[in-house]
Amino acid sequence: MRLEPIVAGNWKMHKTPSVGVYFVEETVNLLLDIKHVSVIFAPPFTGLIEMDVKPPFYVAAQNCHWEDHGAFTGEISVSMIRDCGSDYVILGHSERRHIFGESDEWINRKVDAVLSGALKPILCIGETLDQRESGQTQRILKTQLEQGLAGVDSIENILVAYEPVWAIGTGVTATTDQVEVAHAAVRNILRELFPGSDDVHVLYGGSVKPDNAEELIQVSGVNGFLIGGASLDVDSFTSIIRTVEKDQMRILC
Ligand code: PEP
Repeated sequence: MRLEPIVAGNWKMHKTPSVGVYFVEETVNLLLDIKHVSVIFAPPFTGLIEMDVKPPFYVAAQNCHWEDHGAFTGEISVSMIRDCGSDYVILGHSERRHIFGESDEWINRKVDAVLSGALKPILCIGETLDQRESGQTQRILKTQLEQGLAGVDSIENILVAYEPVWAIGTGVTATTDQVEVAHAAVRNILRELFPGSDDVHVLYGGSVKPDNAEELIQVSGVNGFLIGGASLDVDSFTSIIRTVEKDQMRILC
């Protein structure tokens, strides 16, 4: 049976807290009837405290530090995020890896901190264009999963997002074949690392838009989306969620 899909919107460094609250209210009001999709909003840290949503709507932070407190100027801990009422933390996003130089070792410490703090990590993995073109995609996915999840006993509370770096924010979407092959690889690696992990969600991210959501959600192994640009606009975000809901209803009928 297919997992109930999850659609997460990563706002990156967009929307002030008041704009974010208005956006969430508008989005939720347009989606009051959805039954088969969970929706996650990931505002900047400054917006977390303002978010007031109920299932099937949830909130994620976009990053955290692995220490609980201390002299780490500019950082935010898991307990601070939890105190804002958030449920998830996005970790290892390609912008954190490639702009801010986060290593798999750091991401692993953060995964551990998020799990210890009773929140759920959304672990992002994905290859660069060079890595894909030199045939290294599967090796990179394996390394990022092995190292990012090192020491994790149970993967039950973790979401994985496969996001090819070359498709993030570029308008270039991976083909359905590329997505299917990568998701199958991720699933196989997860099975090796965590036997019995088939109910772990593996989301796809990379230029998901209203006009490609229908074909992407039907790709085998895709359990939902992590969306950047198209999650900033009420119409495009709700349209993608409706597409995912419709597809899930088609499967259930
Ligand atoms: C992202 O930021 O995780 C992302 C997938 O961005 P976009 O949808 O804009 O490619």
